[in-house]
Amino acid sequence: MAASLRLLGAASGLRYWSRRLRPAAGSFAAVASKTPVGFIGLGNMGNPMAKNLMKHGYPLIIYDVFPDACKEFQDAGEQVVSSPADVAEKADRIITMLPTSINAIEAYSGANGILKKVKKGSLLIDSSTIDPAVSKELAKEVEKMGAVFMDAPVSGGVGAARSGNLTFMVGGVEDEFAAAQELLGCMGSNVVYCGAVGTGQAAKICNNMLLAISMIGTAEAMNLGIRLGLDPKLLAKILNMSSGRCWSSDTYNPVPGVMDGVPSANNYQGGFGTTLMAKDLGLAQDSATSTKSPILLGSLAHQIYRMMCAKGYSKKDFSSVFQFLREEETF
Ligand code: NAD
Repeated sequence: MAASLRLLGAASGLRYWSRRLRPAAGSFAAVASKTPVGFIGLGNMGNPMAKNLMKHGYPLIIYDVFPDACKEFQDAGEQVVSSPADVAEKADRIITMLPTSINAIEAYSGANGILKKVKKGSLLIDSSTIDPAVSKELAKEVEKMGAVFMDAPVSGGVGAARSGNLTFMVGGVEDEFAAAQELLGCMGSNVVYCGAVGTGQAAKICNNMLLAISMIGTAEAMNLGIRLGLDPKLLAKILNMSSGRCWSSDTYNPVPGVMDGVPSANNYQGGFGTTLMAKDLGLAQDSATSTKSPILLGSLAHQIYRMMCAKGYSKKDFSSVFQFLREEETF
């Protein structure tokens, strides 16, 4: 229906439908805007993101390689299908939220990928964090099929995904941004247009490199303070009213017992996996090499997260770097 909405816009002299142009509730186009949205990848992030689309009244066409991830949605009456191609057959607006570049390539270009059955005029939004070069390649393939691809990776973590307060960094053709914003605005409070396809990924990679560095720094500072005899809650309070304050210290503190509702309060379960952080730092490393940019602390952070994966932390949230440092203390 995205295509017909665009045709609707074209007929009225407006090339694209946008939130600003949203028709009155109950009109044909308002009803048409609630046609099914495809969602592929219902993991830590995709699950709450898809639920926010449901809350906004969008029926979903769901697929995940891990069938258990779909069960909750099936129980809620959403349609679960057996491949990304089947999603593309039934929905012409699709969001993908997958772990890595390889998974995204599989979901789009694989034997049963989206491109096998994508309809002309479809809007495909990839919110996974992947290599910007892969986003550009996927965009070319999608364009050949007469559809539109945008990269829209997110920042904010599982909490923001649940509350619908993610930040989306969007790359792609600017004229398509409004159409993407209609869906992304249901899941995020900030939807930022970054430029050509791949620039959303570029912004995301820079953010996550800084996040990794600040998380390691917070864990080191908290651990040192504790060893110097400070109460961790008091130290966190002081950092958060001082110049050392950052997201890792005030929203996602890595020390168990300092905050509720964060992975450190739950044995580092859920959240943003250490493997995913190591992957993002690898993307930063590759980008730094290709652009000849010095990233000394980014490279060190990459080594630390890779080492954590090798030492059994891969399934834990990335704030478990605090626990990792504690274990290193014995050496
Ligand atoms: P996750 O591993 O929890 O979920 C990914 C889901 O994708 C899983 O359910 C998996 O079964 C499914 N999947 C994998 N390959 C598939 C395929 N080919 N087809 C269909 N489904 C497939 O990962 P996540 O934490 O939800 O992260 C998703 C993306 O978002 C990653 O790129 C990550 O870097 C990024 N991200 C995560 C967070 C976070 O806090 N978790 C925050 C920002 C960005």
